[in-house]
Amino acid sequence: MTVRAVRVHRHRAALLRPFVTAARRTEAVDYVVAEVELDGGAVGQGSAADAVAVTGQSAASITAALDGPGRRALTGASGTIAELSARISAALPQATSAAAALEVALHDAWARGHDAPLAALLGGSIAGAMENDMTISLEDPPAMAARARQARAAGTRILKVKLGRDIDEDRRRLHAVLEAAPDVRLRLDANQGWSPAEAIRIIGGLEAEDLPLDLVEQPVPAADVAGLAQVRAAVGVPIMADEAVWSREDALRLIDAGAADLLNIKLAKSGGIRPALAIADAAAEAGLTCMVGAMMEPRISITAAAHLAFSHRAITLIDLDPPAWFASPAPAGGYTEDGGMLRLLGGPGLGLDRLDAQVDPATHAPARHDPARHDPVPSDPPPEHPAP
Ligand SMILES: [Mg+2]
Repeated sequence: MTVRAVRVHRHRAALLRPFVTAARRTEAVDYVVAEVELDGGAVGQGSAADAVAVTGQSAASITAALDGPGRRALTGASGTIAELSARISAALPQATSAAAALEVALHDAWARGHDAPLAALLGGSIAGAMENDMTISLEDPPAMAARARQARAAGTRILKVKLGRDIDEDRRRLHAVLEAAPDVRLRLDANQGWSPAEAIRIIGGLEAEDLPLDLVEQPVPAADVAGLAQVRAAVGVPIMADEAVWSREDALRLIDAGAADLLNIKLAKSGGIRPALAIADAAAEAGLTCMVGAMMEPRISITAAAHLAFSHRAITLIDLDPPAWFASPAPAGGYTEDGGMLRLLGGPGLGLDRLDAQVDPATHAPARHDPARHDPVPSDPPPEHPAP
């Protein structure tokens, strides 16, 4: 197949309420949509969100990467889907969010050209359902309890709780959440907040309290693979790597070190569907399972992540609640969620309507100068992005 054109448009979407973690506070999301048009006329779309505090990539840098090396690599290029995907990875080795938007758009167009759902073309099935979670962001205990009660009332049975830096306060938060929603399972995410010794003490303490913990995500800094292995060896609850795994090479390093029970795959880290599947392959060979998660990204990104999740046997968990935070539900289609169960709707490609460039138009002011946008907490370390 041959790529006829690459188009890029920017958007800004308000969130229904602020999203708060130890690393950032977000009230609106700037995101970029890439469109890929093939010679046969099929048009696919992919998206990437500004998530500087997590990925180091802003809407401006994503747009520049797509408008420059991304468009040059793909416009007029011919090849198989794997060859064209590899061109994107080679052109955008560090700009993984931009690469993901473009590579997803390419896959959407490819699957539309075959008139088949993407997951089915990737060897998966669109049948069945996967259980989604809801993130409870970092607020005071009563606010978190109220969110937990709402989520449980909507049918969610798994809550992902973001933890801060003060374990006594975090313990009050967890107890408030469990008092409000006593029958949920918990996923905890420390977002690199602890040293190995702190992690062992904190997780050990929570285990001793018999909290319903399914996993703890990235307790220690991403670069500390040995520390992560130390934590995993010392505690009973499964340990998931997130910020430490961007690529297949990262996955192999974690596997060799015995550092993780689970890997959290995100398109914005891997740079697209095929690099994500390569991580899942490495996990499957080593007997690990994977979750597909996401940044605070719009519905196009999340639908792509859902197709990825339905495509590989090693992927058994999803953490795909961001669309529930967005004020705008556009574009329609892709998937449904009912009682916490996510199902793909099928249809060609991602199964989404095409997002009009005029939906949620972004202002062109640099994001940093926008008073509505909260910059990362200055004391946070810059995001770690291991060299590929
Ligand atoms: Mg995480």
